[in-house]
Amino acid sequence: MDLHSVNVRFDKEFRAAYVKFLASGRYILGDEVDAFETNFANYCGTKFCIGTANGLDALTIIFKAYIELGLLQKGDEVIVPANTYIASILAIIHSGLNPVLVEPDEKSFNISPTKIEDAITWKTRAIMVVHLYGQLADVEAIKKISIKHNLLSIEDTAQAHGAVNGEGIKAGNFGDAAGFSFYPSKNLGALGDGGCVTTNNKELANMIRKLSNYGTDSKYVNEVKGFNSRLDEIQAMFLNIKLPFLDSDNKRRIEIAKQYTLGITSLKILLPSLSEKGNHVFHQFVVRVKDRDAFVDYLNRNGVETIIHYPIPPHKQKALEEFSYLSFPITEKIHKTVVSLPLYPTMTNQDVQTIIELLNAY
Ligand SMILES: *Cc1c(COP(=O)(O)O)cnc(C)c1O
Repeated sequence: MDLHSVNVRFDKEFRAAYVKFLASGRYILGDEVDAFETNFANYCGTKFCIGTANGLDALTIIFKAYIELGLLQKGDEVIVPANTYIASILAIIHSGLNPVLVEPDEKSFNISPTKIEDAITWKTRAIMVVHLYGQLADVEAIKKISIKHNLLSIEDTAQAHGAVNGEGIKAGNFGDAAGFSFYPSKNLGALGDGGCVTTNNKELANMIRKLSNYGTDSKYVNEVKGFNSRLDEIQAMFLNIKLPFLDSDNKRRIEIAKQYTLGITSLKILLPSLSEKGNHVFHQFVVRVKDRDAFVDYLNRNGVETIIHYPIPPHKQKALEEFSYLSFPITEKIHKTVVSLPLYPTMTNQDVQTIIELLNAY
């Protein structure tokens, strides 16, 4: 991903905003964070948006807020995809809760609703949904399960800004709360770290706001044991400038995905599912190949960089040793075969065509 080409489009606006920012003399929780929280809540269709320092904090603080509110307790079980970026699982562990890993549906890469039901015990209190690679998980089926079993539903929306279902509901507005990341390479990326929580629950929103700012509502009155996890004013300023272009960027991502899908004819390459509904905003275009090392090497030699999201599944990471005895064959198979092709909104059709020709000659 050529991040420079993505951000240089806003060069003039960024510079003008920075001059204003410098003159304001207000560098923490100023007008830009306020404006972004309003803008992004409106964009997602939620009542509230609370800025945080990054995506992992957004997810962690959601769980901590539920603990403060007495709706979750240490040791409660949270169902989470086995096939995810480790952050989803760390947020649960850092909150003192127990992640229960569940296999994905092999085609969508997202958590399998039927396997969620199998994993529910008397200690299960929440489901964390991840819209992996930008494709909405089966939110309708998962909503039914969470209502039936009275479970909280939390979305990890770090890869799915702007993804929308058939009824026009956007990622971040399906569950009880959602955690976004604005890491530079995300579909809406800052020029540094950033994140936020979206929710329609006022009590939860208030607690999250407190927890992210030292547990305080008014200066130097600390009501709960909080953190310092605020969205930075400068990053909010960049995000306010970029947000109006999120939909057109996502549209361009879908166009590129379509070009890849129509163009790649090699039977050695398994393509991702393509939906017209926008429920996939192609944070990544992930294909699967049997001989991954040779494939990556071939593209590399021909000047095409690829990344593997992700090479080692969370339960096989040293950091999560306590889960290493578990076996998730689908997750493990996915991790062994996936490769992300270049896809970002400023790629030209010619760039994509060149890659397609290389792939078909493989
Ligand atoms: C990027 C990402 C996160 C974490 O975001 P940070 O801002 O890097 O902390 C969480 N979950 C998923 C699925 C991600 O891709």
